[in-house]
Amino acid sequence: MNLKVPVNRINQRMRYAILFAFAALLVSAFGACRMPAKPEIVSTAATPTPQQAATATVEPTPSNDDVFDGNVIVKSEDEWRKQLTQDQFAVLREGDTEPAFHNEYFDNHEHGTYYCAACHLKLFSSEAKFESGTGWPSFFQPVHKKNVIEVTDRQFGMVRTEVQCARCRSHLGHVFDDGPKPTGLRYCMNSAALRFEKD
Ligand SMILES: [Zn+2]
Repeated sequence: MNLKVPVNRINQRMRYAILFAFAALLVSAFGACRMPAKPEIVSTAATPTPQQAATATVEPTPSNDDVFDGNVIVKSEDEWRKQLTQDQFAVLREGDTEPAFHNEYFDNHEHGTYYCAACHLKLFSSEAKFESGTGWPSFFQPVHKKNVIEVTDRQFGMVRTEVQCARCRSHLGHVFDDGPKPTGLRYCMNSAALRFEKD
């Protein structure tokens, strides 16, 4: 009899211990289940749906309009004619010069960026625009030297330096060495060759 009592007590303690362990297991199991519930929702939202993923792969990779990457855009003159207005085509593709003081940007003082009207390569910043008094938008430097190319122009019995868009080789205007500091250059551009976008 004396032996049975401690054994029973031990059994009882063990039962409590087992019960406690079971209860602890249950709590931790529920706790563990509850924890991932929230991250699961977050991960569902973060993961693109099959439709989004399909759209992303179908869309063409946006080209880098900031700095010329060396890939020249080649289009037939017919393609350019369809894409551009008559004035834009005359300047950009035929090398015309628009009339002074009768163009869109010569007196534009808004802050922003001037892009190529044919291919949207970034060309000039309003930060580099200055009052030249010529009646054409004038800049002392392009946003990146490699975004424009210079070609010797011997038209009309003058030797001038023509400026073209490096990416689509469209005519933009001319550059002269009578500009202000810090470069001493004057990029005399045609408004029709540019597309201004506010900052
Ligand atoms: Zn261009």
